[in-house]
This record gives sequence, structure tokens and C-alpha cells, in this order.
Amino acid sequence: MIRCPVCSHNNQSENDICENCKCDLVEYKNLVFAPDILYNRAIDAIKHKDSEKAKKYLIYALEISPKDTGIMNFLVRLYLSTKEYTSAMNYMVEILAITPDDERTIELMNEVSKRISRQDIEKKQFDEFMNMSFADYYKMLTGNEFSIDTLCTTK
Ligand SMILES: [Zn+2]
Repeated sequence: MIRCPVCSHNNQSENDICENCKCDLVEYKNLVFAPDILYNRAIDAIKHKDSEKAKKYLIYALEISPKDTGIMNFLVRLYLSTKEYTSAMNYMVEILAITPDDERTIELMNEVSKRISRQDIEKKQFDEFMNMSFADYYKMLTGNEFSIDTLCTTK
């Protein structure tokens, strides 16, 4: 959707001329959707601590220039800051597909893959805990079998 700057009519994004007032939308579209403008908007969004908005602008920017590793690197940093390691990893894979010798990204990928497995382990431990009965949990903590009597005789 693109809003005409002259008459405010909402046009389909692919329209080059406003359906309503017939003004030329091409230049305006370039202005609104240029990757560097979106990139700057992403930086603004970060200044306002809105990393979700920043991600969205960068993803738009990447749609326009899909091989821009600068945008991808920016996305990687954002996803790392919000601990979305899998998304960060996906962009790093894309960066390496374009620039396979990018040592900084290779190093970062190793670091992140360690964090992903740590996150998996923590999740597994949490799931196990959630599925554990109180008696199992008691046994795990104290090494003793749990029974109501145990509770009554303590103290
Ligand atoms: Zn118009």
C-alpha cells in the first residue's frame, strides 16, 4: 500500500501513478522505500528502544536489496540483543553465503551456536522440572523418598 503524497489516496504498492489524482508515484516510492532510508529509520527506532520496529524496517530494506550484508549484520546484532539466536543464525548463514571469508561472522556463529545449545539444555531442564512430580523433585533434592510422614516428622 502506498499513500499518495498529493491527495492521500491509498494506492496498490505496484502502482506508478496515483489512481485518484494521476500524479507520478515512482520518485516518491523510491524515497519512501529506499534501503538507506529504511536503515536510518531502523536506527531511529533503536534510539527509541523499539527493536521490533527496527527489525521490521531492516527486513523491508533487505527485500529491496537482498544481498546487503550491512543490513544483515545489523539484523544479526538486533536478534542477538533480543536473544533470538536462531534468527540471528539464519542471517549469519546468509552473510556467509555472500561473503564466505567473513571471519567475524564465522567467529560469532561459533559463539552463538554454543549459546543455542545452552538455551536448549536450559529449556530441557525446565521441561523436565515441569513434568516432574513433587515426590521426584523431593527425591532429587534430598536423596530420600518422599512420604507424608517425612513432612510430619521434620522439625
Ligand atoms: Zn493522488
